[in-house]
Amino acid sequence: MSADLRALPAVEALLQTQQAANLVAEYGRPLTLEAIRAELTDLRRRLKENGELTIPERGQILDAASDRLESWLRTTLVPVINATGVVLHTNLGRAPLSRAAMNAAQSLTTGYCTLEYDLAKGVRGSRSVHAEELLKHLTGAEAALVVNNNAAALLLCLSALARRQRVVIARSQLVEIGGGFRVPDVMNQSGAKLVEVGTTNRVHRRDFEEALNEPAALVLRAHHSNFRILGFTTEPSLEELVEVAHARGVIVLDDLGSGALLNTEQYGLAHEPTVQESMKAGADLICFSGDKLLGGPQAGIIIGKADLVAKVKKHPLARAVRADKLALGVLAVTLTHYLKNEAEREIPIWRMIGTTPEQIEARAQRWRAVLDLGEVIEAHSAVGGGSLPEETLRTFVLALNVPQPNKFLARLRAANPPVIARVENELVVFDPRTVLPEEEGALLVAVKNILGKI
Ligand SMILES: *Cc1c(COP(=O)(O)O)cnc(C)c1O
Repeated sequence: MSADLRALPAVEALLQTQQAANLVAEYGRPLTLEAIRAELTDLRRRLKENGELTIPERGQILDAASDRLESWLRTTLVPVINATGVVLHTNLGRAPLSRAAMNAAQSLTTGYCTLEYDLAKGVRGSRSVHAEELLKHLTGAEAALVVNNNAAALLLCLSALARRQRVVIARSQLVEIGGGFRVPDVMNQSGAKLVEVGTTNRVHRRDFEEALNEPAALVLRAHHSNFRILGFTTEPSLEELVEVAHARGVIVLDDLGSGALLNTEQYGLAHEPTVQESMKAGADLICFSGDKLLGGPQAGIIIGKADLVAKVKKHPLARAVRADKLALGVLAVTLTHYLKNEAEREIPIWRMIGTTPEQIEARAQRWRAVLDLGEVIEAHSAVGGGSLPEETLRTFVLALNVPQPNKFLARLRAANPPVIARVENELVVFDPRTVLPEEEGALLVAVKNILGKI
């Protein structure tokens, strides 16, 4: 005997209830109706298929509709706590922003702003001016341009300056950065003719000299980014490339990748090429990311000679890859931290990189005391984001010895906010380096809850 489908409550009857009124208040009437109808349709089908089922209470039907509404509106781009110790974690959004940068983002987007408006003259202005004056002041470059990301910056420079012309690059620099970004593919896409010189491990000045005996538009240097060649290797310095190229009237474009403005050696790391060094070496154009070692928003920054930047700006692609007001506003504030010599204090990634192992150990000990569990052990954090491959920072982690550590990780990811940790030698480890102080409480609550259930 199957249930009598006529006994199912009507949509209108369900809508009369207080529970439905609450749903309408939260989700709006059309979507609530859609969810109730979907639930009833589903219920009818299940009742027909399974004769044993009985008709649920109104409250249960509305609970199910509420679950539906929640799952329809669930967003997947949500904040997480990064306890991995990887400072520029590409999958976790690279660089967290400074407080001042975040405030700028908020105030610029809740109302109108001067994106393309000249306040003094009361006429149309240019969106280029906002971050560019700061970039010029900071780097000494004649001109600057900000676009959507560094991949776009490289594509744009090559398209504007080297289409149908030869571009000479060391074979050792034909890298794949990740996310499908390959330097040779970008060069092809721009219409430039790729001329690779030297061998995988050794590239000499004379390789460039020979290649430049024929006309070329550009010499490209690309940062190795996420890999390192060891052993019997050599590459000409940027100074040498500039000398060889300029003697023949050829432009040098330096794709710096991470675009460090501070010296990474002062934190016990290897040397990461800086923007200032590329300027000093005489590169004509330099491009780098806004959200790697600069510690700002996603952006591609191009600086260099005024005539070249002007040419790049005029290319039709420039409009297609332009930066939006959020990126420009946040980048401008991030740059002021460098100008004011407060980058290490204000920019989260530099604060994280600059934290000493002892400070981190003290934090891990505090966590251990709160949980009354685990062990504080020495480990390594990574910088990430395609910079400083193989380089690590000495750190201390809180290590928990729990059954089924990978299941524990999954439970951490299901917490609110989700916590991303890692397993090392069968232990679940939490690196305080990348956990912001204001996230500490939520992290410890999440761990405690999970511990209470196993
Ligand atoms: C990361 C990187 C890019 C791409 O930069 P995005 O800002 O991620 O688009 C290009 N070139 C190099 C050398 C890089 O390291």
